[in-house]
Amino acid sequence: MLKTPLARRLPVWIEELGQIGRTEADGLWRTPYTPADTQAQDAVAGWMQQAGLEVRRDAVGNLFGRLPGTTRPDEVILTGSHLDTVRNGGKYDGGLGILAGIVMLAEVLETSGRPARSLEVVALVGEEGSRFPLAFIGSKAITGELSPEELEIRDAEGISIAGAMRGVGLDPSRIQEARRSDLRGFLEFHIEQGRILQDQGYPLGIVHTITGIRQACVLVDGRPDHAGTTPMTSRRDAMLGAAEMVLRIAEQITALGHPAVATTGRLQARPGGVNVVAEQVEFTVDFRHPDPAVLERMAAMIRGTCEEVAQRRRLASTLHVFLEHPPVPMSPEVQAALQASAEELGLKALSMASGAGHDAMVLAGRIPVGMLFVPSREGRSHCPDEFTPEGEIVPGLAVLARTLHRLATV
Ligand SMILES: [Zn+2]
Repeated sequence: MLKTPLARRLPVWIEELGQIGRTEADGLWRTPYTPADTQAQDAVAGWMQQAGLEVRRDAVGNLFGRLPGTTRPDEVILTGSHLDTVRNGGKYDGGLGILAGIVMLAEVLETSGRPARSLEVVALVGEEGSRFPLAFIGSKAITGELSPEELEIRDAEGISIAGAMRGVGLDPSRIQEARRSDLRGFLEFHIEQGRILQDQGYPLGIVHTITGIRQACVLVDGRPDHAGTTPMTSRRDAMLGAAEMVLRIAEQITALGHPAVATTGRLQARPGGVNVVAEQVEFTVDFRHPDPAVLERMAAMIRGTCEEVAQRRRLASTLHVFLEHPPVPMSPEVQAALQASAEELGLKALSMASGAGHDAMVLAGRIPVGMLFVPSREGRSHCPDEFTPEGEIVPGLAVLARTLHRLATV
């Protein structure tokens, strides 16, 4: 299916990149502007050179490998993904999309020669927000949306993004230079990070929408009381209220069916004494759906449930939405190009929503964007068990190369 000898290097590169930023728990923690990040960038730059690409790093630290076009070199089709990982993440999230892009640019060159438009592969900086509480640093710089205020956001040690950039030789005052106006399309190759492809028996997924994401914080106020002397019936227990809210939300969202999801990943009780009825409980709800109307209904449902439970239990509750990403549709043209490439190769591809956020959603506001998924073994991701066997990566590579060529040939 693939002709370039370089394609055989891919599994070796995945393992080599997967050694950079290793944690004691056998996972990876590679975050922007750290020694592990620099080491990974150096390795990737070397592989880009081996593939015959022109290598450069932009003002925010995104790394690019370029195959210049013949007749329209100023129009660029971009592929790639993010170089950073979550804390104790796996080898495939992000890394695979970069390495696949490198070998598939070489494949395009080998099989069809340089296309009319330029092709570039990018290793994006800071998609996960796992060092600084800001996601999509690299892609936001490319669209010109990364603000000087955001560069003052600090990590757990109090180091700002701007300070960390200076530490690796980047000048934060030049951030605007990372902005691109020559991009004509972006195609991100990624592991699914879920188990739909595996369960439904598809080798490939073509994303139609990146799911809408909202994150809310719910504050439940009750009354602190003595744990030994206050009868159960006369308490205003914020913990019991929060517990019922969390369970009721999960039941209602489950009843909506897939792909509606809601998660409470953090809960904190105050004053936090073993022998004190909780006065206040704060918990988070992350909820997602690719259909904006359903997402709106979910928001109303969650709010209504919290209010009803609080009232019945003589508590007060407030809900504050602190993050809101609307669903992002992928470009119909890029989806059609992916579908056509899959059909030519005799491969079945499932049209599906992405339940995870990606750099593609930032770039989709500006240029035609598409995403191609390969299966994740058991749906495991953001953990060291993340795995996609070589045999399940290769069909995706073939579709990627064909689609890149297609988009770059105009
Ligand atoms: Zn990712």
